[in-house]
Amino acid sequence: MNAEVLLQVEGLKKYYPAGSDLFGRKKRYVRAVDGIDLTIRRGETLGLVGESGCRKSTLGKSVLRLIEPTEGRITFEGQDILQLSQAQMREMRKQMQIVFQDPYSSLNPRMTVFETVRSPLDAFGIGTKEEREKKVMDLIEYVGLSRHQMHRYPHEFSGGQRQRMIIARALILEPSFIVCDEPVSALDVSIRSQVLNLMQDIQKERGLTYLFISHDLSVVKHISDQVAVMYLGRIVERASRKQIFSNPQHPYTQALMSAIPIPDTEVKRKRIVLTGDVPSPMNPPAGCHFHTRCPYAEAQCTEEAPSLKETEPGHWVSCHLCSSNKQKEGTP
Ligand code: SF4
Repeated sequence: MNAEVLLQVEGLKKYYPAGSDLFGRKKRYVRAVDGIDLTIRRGETLGLVGESGCRKSTLGKSVLRLIEPTEGRITFEGQDILQLSQAQMREMRKQMQIVFQDPYSSLNPRMTVFETVRSPLDAFGIGTKEEREKKVMDLIEYVGLSRHQMHRYPHEFSGGQRQRMIIARALILEPSFIVCDEPVSALDVSIRSQVLNLMQDIQKERGLTYLFISHDLSVVKHISDQVAVMYLGRIVERASRKQIFSNPQHPYTQALMSAIPIPDTEVKRKRIVLTGDVPSPMNPPAGCHFHTRCPYAEAQCTEEAPSLKETEPGHWVSCHLCSSNKQKEGTP
């Protein structure tokens, strides 16, 4: 049986004003997030992948209203959070936390581990002094740090330990949903899997739901239940981890997959090299945004934007080549 939906995103857009055209008539916008639909079920991890610059982080922050979306609807725990006042949204944030990529820059260098992890409790005035202290110390140990280290400062820790501090800070308010924005990208390969395993253990024990943003498909494969592939502000493919890794259908996803290293030297895979950079989101190509880099582009692709269509149960692809009369249009 499918788990209940925790977060539903419909038609989400985030446009930034970028001045006017040469004649000062037409206003221009950076279309960072350009009409995205997503569903995340309770207890699941949705992996969001794409090259750097495809605005994955903007989507993650928009979902939490850390930046205000331009248009769309975000339903969390059945509530339309774009309709909440600032005070109501502040309360809601107890349930919705974020872990950023660079643990060092997201920590205050003048605060000890103890003060860092306690700070959300202070901000919301939760518990007595003794209750806060106990909760913080328990959580510090829970994420694999020692009580003896709790009065030390961020610079006295390794990158992996700092990320454990950030995770503890995100957990202290007992959220149900965490946006993990490239949480292991800045870490050494040797400690990435330790932090990933910790995040998986925490998820299992606390029933957490993750939106896990990464440019690294190996990491996404390790941690995700569902995967969404983003290109230039839009989702181009969405499916379960198994479906997307065994049968990638969008040419962009196929190119990303072809770049994953294979441990078995006997197995050969042809690398699909994408030429050119991701185009500017201020002036995205007409039709399919990917047509300027797609090896299969046809005339139709330059004129008509493909919509997401279901090509097999639970597998949604936005590509004219993957379309057929049997496919259903709708919201994944
Ligand atoms: Fe390539 Fe056309 Fe499919 Fe876009 S719609 S991914 S350009 S084949």
